[in-house]
Amino acid sequence: MSFHTLGLIDPIQRTLDALGYTEPTPVQAQAIPAVLAGRDLMAAAQTGTGKTAGFALPILQRLTMDGVVAPQSVRCLVLVPTRELAEQVYDSFRRYGASLPLRSYVAYGGVAIEPQISKLRKGLDVLVATPGRLLDLYGQGVLNFDSLQTLVLDEADRMLDLGFSRELNAVFDALPKQRQTLLFSATFSDAIRALAGGLLNNPVQIQV
Ligand code: AMP
Repeated sequence: MSFHTLGLIDPIQRTLDALGYTEPTPVQAQAIPAVLAGRDLMAAAQTGTGKTAGFALPILQRLTMDGVVAPQSVRCLVLVPTRELAEQVYDSFRRYGASLPLRSYVAYGGVAIEPQISKLRKGLDVLVATPGRLLDLYGQGVLNFDSLQTLVLDEADRMLDLGFSRELNAVFDALPKQRQTLLFSATFSDAIRALAGGLLNNPVQIQV
């Protein structure tokens, strides 16, 4: 199977060609059409399966095709458990979106918050963040979710293992109910299923 059959726009396809990505991985082959179609997603996928491109590519495409960013607003929020994963996912969005006119940024705790605040002022197409720092920033009133289109939970099981459920619930309360939600998790415990049940609307289910 080739990427060319998945309906990605030319600038993204050219970026993939330049990266030497010829075939989508199984999670990408299933996730990309579903996300492009606006569906919610529940995917059992570990690191190394190509899951990051599986959500980043169609999200970048939808953001490019539809709408522009307003000051202080965030159009796509990607929540991740750790700063290392935050940097990796941010790096992927930058790499895959290199030819697109979109603004992405990453925010996590343990570093100064002021540079993050000033970056948020102009608004962002994509914000990759850990839950605690995201809540801090939200509490300071420097960002809003009025135009949020897409929420991604990456490594949701690790977020619960690290004790982020209170922060996650506080973030969910601040988000518009009308949105696309994608949940990725290596494992599907009862706790993850309960989380998914409250967040996802008739999701496409992917198992790789
Ligand atoms: P991930 O599981 O998202 O952490 O991705 C694992 C690695 O596979 C990353 O280094 C990606 O750059 C790479 N990768 C993802 N999709 C593809 C693809 N379709 N073809 C070749 N490499 C890929």
